Amino acid sequence: MNWELAESMSNELKDALSELEQVYQALDDALREMNPKCEASGVCCNFRTGGYILYTSELETERVRQAIGEQGPWALTDEGECPFLSADRKCSIHPDRPLGCRTYFCDPAYRPLEGEVYQKFITRIGEINARYGIPWNYTPFHGESGHEAVKTPCRGTDRAPVFPILGQES
Ligand code: SF4
Repeated sequence: MNWELAESMSNELKDALSELEQVYQALDDALREMNPKCEASGVCCNFRTGGYILYTSELETERVRQAIGEQGPWALTDEGECPFLSADRKCSIHPDRPLGCRTYFCDPAYRPLEGEVYQKFITRIGEINARYGIPWNYTPFHGESGHEAVKTPCRGTDRAPVFPILGQES
């Protein structure tokens, strides 16, 4: 895959990213109604303790690339934490975080709803990809370190693994 869109920000990419923003806004609206609780502990951003892998589609990853000017993937720390988790336990790329981060809450009342919410909105992202001919490229956001982290989990959580739903990992 060679989706070097950052080199020349095409109108198609701008439009696709704009549509992704609309999907994220629609998700925010839906979540506002569900009102899941988040204590911003940062616990969900440790993939070794969680024992799960965060997958992202190409368009989601591209949004992060555009925001921070790095190509990625972004390896987990030695402790298994996302490198975007700041010292004060907040997400340093919060406005641009991928769908899997946006749809996860440890609130027990919300937990049963996560799969359905994720499926609904990843499908909408898939439709954008299809319209613009963007490669799906659904791969671990943290690269090989994502795979390594789940091989040496510290303890399990009730967080469902975020595995590919549309397309194939490539
Ligand atoms: S991108 Fe942000 S919310 Fe997602 S795992 Fe990393 S620090 Fe956590």
